[in-house]
Amino acid sequence: MPQLRADDAIQYVKGVGPRRAAWFASLGLKTVGELLEYFPFRHEYDSGEVAIEDLQLDQIATIRGEVVDIGGRPPGLRVEVDDGTGTCVLRWFNRERRASRIFRGATIVATGKVTLYDDLPEMVQPQVQVYEPDVVLSPPQRGQRQVGVYRGNAQLKNALIRRTVLAVLQHPRLPVEEIVPAPLRAKRGLVDREQAIRDMHAPPTDAALQQARRRLAYEELFLIELAMALRRDRRLRLQAGRKLPVTPEIDQRIRARFPFPLTPAQDAAVRDIVADLGSGRPMTRLLQGDVGCGKTVVALYACLVAVAHGCQAAIMAPTEILAAQHFERIGQYLAGSRVRAVLLRGGLPARQRREALAAVERGEMDLVVGTQALIQKDVAFNELALVVVDEQHKFGVLQRHEFRTKGIQPHYLVMTATPIPRTLGMTVLGDLDVSVIRASPPGRGTIETRVVTPAKWDLVMGYVRRRLEGGEQAYVVCPLIGEEPGQPSGEHPTADPPDPTIEPRGSRGAKAGNGRELTSVLAEHARLTQGPWRGLRVGLLHGSLPSGGKQQVIDDFAAGRLHAIVATTVVEVGVDVSAATIMIVEHADRFGLSQLHQLRGRIARSSRPGLCVLIAAGSGPRAAQRLAVMARTTDGFKIAEADLEQRGPGELFGTRQHGLPELRAADLVSDYELLEQAREDAFALVRGDPRLERREHAALLPALRRVFGDRLRLIDAA
Ligand code: ADP
Ligand code: MG
Repeated sequence: MPQLRADDAIQYVKGVGPRRAAWFASLGLKTVGELLEYFPFRHEYDSGEVAIEDLQLDQIATIRGEVVDIGGRPPGLRVEVDDGTGTCVLRWFNRERRASRIFRGATIVATGKVTLYDDLPEMVQPQVQVYEPDVVLSPPQRGQRQVGVYRGNAQLKNALIRRTVLAVLQHPRLPVEEIVPAPLRAKRGLVDREQAIRDMHAPPTDAALQQARRRLAYEELFLIELAMALRRDRRLRLQAGRKLPVTPEIDQRIRARFPFPLTPAQDAAVRDIVADLGSGRPMTRLLQGDVGCGKTVVALYACLVAVAHGCQAAIMAPTEILAAQHFERIGQYLAGSRVRAVLLRGGLPARQRREALAAVERGEMDLVVGTQALIQKDVAFNELALVVVDEQHKFGVLQRHEFRTKGIQPHYLVMTATPIPRTLGMTVLGDLDVSVIRASPPGRGTIETRVVTPAKWDLVMGYVRRRLEGGEQAYVVCPLIGEEPGQPSGEHPTADPPDPTIEPRGSRGAKAGNGRELTSVLAEHARLTQGPWRGLRVGLLHGSLPSGGKQQVIDDFAAGRLHAIVATTVVEVGVDVSAATIMIVEHADRFGLSQLHQLRGRIARSSRPGLCVLIAAGSGPRAAQRLAVMARTTDGFKIAEADLEQRGPGELFGTRQHGLPELRAADLVSDYELLEQAREDAFALVRGDPRLERREHAALLPALRRVFGDRLRLIDAA
């Protein structure tokens, strides 16, 4: 056999030719190398050669027997095969090519999927080999073997892909180059790449398939982690950060601004940040923690370190409302200090705005708060040393912001209230440093969570009415704004593309799972105020209100002038009213768990016991089970893991949007341990050989380029 090369065209593989090669090309497969890495999406049992009497429906099997009859109406072809235990029919719809080769008395070996027709087992369009009657064949193989099942399309069917792959596998040496360095293969007990690829397509045993998959999954994860390790290494080596050491005096001065001692979890995060800021390297740290766990205080600590060094800091929020809330809260902490802070509002009169911007540019403002859009677009800084990005529930969309600043690029602190499952943290955000605040400040009340069916609506609302009359406040969240069917309510705080994590699941369809029209905010408001909540003061909040209108509703609610607000998920990011203790979510089964967790977080700020009612329309056992997690735990990390398991990383995270390659062998949920190993190995490798110059690492850069293309520019800068 001639030597096979990875860039050989598929066209020249046995049985392909130009016409079929075009079909392969429609799947993006042009070369033998690409075909070899086109893995089956599942495997099925091929039972090897079996006796005809043992054939089982729907299995793929191989039989061997004598041709006892040939017939069928042309152009079809019907062949009867007898092996002494029974008769099986082989059927083709187009005889021309076969008929010339099959003859009565021939020995035939046929492989195909078993169906039943007229009480006889039958194979439609099987693959066959035809032999002379007296040929001596090796004894039949028996036993279970798995074959790959491939994703094809209208023209290119699984069977042809499989056949073509098997033809390539006939070669004793495949054009497969090892990527994972030998010491790591030995350390982790991984089979070599060629073996893994063979076994992935045509595993001789279950164990071989598992080994192959594990090896290829490791490789995928290893390359991702390698990219992350390189990116991090480049950042730390090539970019300088402003040195902002924290002296005991500075530390004391900052802590004196807070009316409470920091919690141990906050202290730990502060220690991480202090180390970063003093290191002379740029900080890129993610601060994770549930709503209300005290991140803002930690972020303000960091800002004040910058200010103590005569520099500026910026806090960027996802919405105007949140920016205003940050500013107000920060203002309370800073009252009486000399720190000059400014809120960049969208609606500022032109002159005030000009003056504010000029003051920032001259360095007369220490702390600038605003939305990301505003700060990035408009502001020229004098001495910007730190940027805090509050992403709330949006995680990982860490853009590398460019600032108009004279100095070097600033330190970054990104806050997110969405607990990120560790696997995702290690991949998508794998080059960041992470601090996690898991425990909340003392004095928080507990929240009772109930999952109920819509039949309980009157009961729930009647009960809640009594609590509202007793002085509590409630949110009622609905998935849709108004009458127009199909309009999602998720307000997108900035001009970012729609974020899959904030849109109710399937909200684009107008119908709920049970065919009921989704309850709109307006209808729900009417239903409540004309029904069980008649006479109560109930506000209305949704993304289509002008921003002044929104603010008014929020102010009224915060001041206790409203008993409740009926809202879209805009409250998830927009509202921070610590007195509210009741959260009711309509169509809760339409939301992701992480989003429900965010919503529930809105009532976690009070010391009074809270109540969260999830109304799940048409909840089948699965919907109820999904939501049961919410009733069981308030630990955001546990909920995030459950969400990842339920929805998969794609939907939860939009992995592609984050530049992650599609995973073909690895699974971010089940390969957690493998991921940890791959990460450990990749980071160690980059520590020892940051430029991947060693000979045994020669295959790594080309592999990274193949996988990531130009998505990881920093790697190419090496
Ligand atoms: P996050 O930004 O994580 O949502 P915040 O920083 O806004 O949380 O804090 C939530 C609430 O907890 C605020 O009202 C804040 O004053 C309070 N808080 C923060 N840290 C502490 C602490 N160490 N002790 C007591 N209360 C705290
Ligand atoms: Mg906050």
